[in-house]
Amino acid sequence: MDFLIATHNLKKQAELQRILEPLDIKVLTADMAGIELTDVEETGTTFEENAYLKAHSGCLESGMVCVADDSGLMVDFLDGAPGVYSARFAGEHGNDAKNIEKLLEIMKDVPAEKRTAKFVSAVCCCFPDGRSFTVRGECRGVIAFEKHGSGGFGYDPVFLVGDKTFGELSAEEKDKLSHRGNALRKFADEIKNYI
Ligand code: IMP
Repeated sequence: MDFLIATHNLKKQAELQRILEPLDIKVLTADMAGIELTDVEETGTTFEENAYLKAHSGCLESGMVCVADDSGLMVDFLDGAPGVYSARFAGEHGNDAKNIEKLLEIMKDVPAEKRTAKFVSAVCCCFPDGRSFTVRGECRGVIAFEKHGSGGFGYDPVFLVGDKTFGELSAEEKDKLSHRGNALRKFADEIKNYI
């Protein structure tokens, strides 16, 4: 059985493929499936809404089972910001380095005990017959005072779990702890009820 994943990110495709391999499911990006998907505007106010918008649109356009995820960082001191705006925290034309710079600047006088945060990942699956389900994974940590490590992407170099940032972990170590790893493990459990 073929599933479409609504992302151009080949790392996400490979991650989902590893999880769904034992169920005999092949995970294809739109490029791999030879189709073109409309870019969906992420207008939702929650990760779940945005994941659904992307999966639903991909499913309607392709007629295939479609999976999409949405994720981000929620900082307690900032009342959950940047949240669904994580990728755009430093502006539409920002990037990972600028987002981190902005976060560290805002947090520079915030003491260690008030620097708690979590990463969140919502993964939605839509079926052509109208069924859908969404799972959510979280990972709690602390915002570091400066960058450590060069692995991963996004806010990884400033997200501390224990005494290391995600940027200092291998991909396998991060998968075991991460919001996306947790969401995908729940996904693998839930999908069995649908196929
Ligand atoms: P997306 O849902 O994969 O597009 O992620 C949205 C934004 O959240 C990214 O651009 C990153 O800034 C942040 N983000 C999501 N997941 C992670 C992660 O695992 N590490 C670091 N940053 C992340």
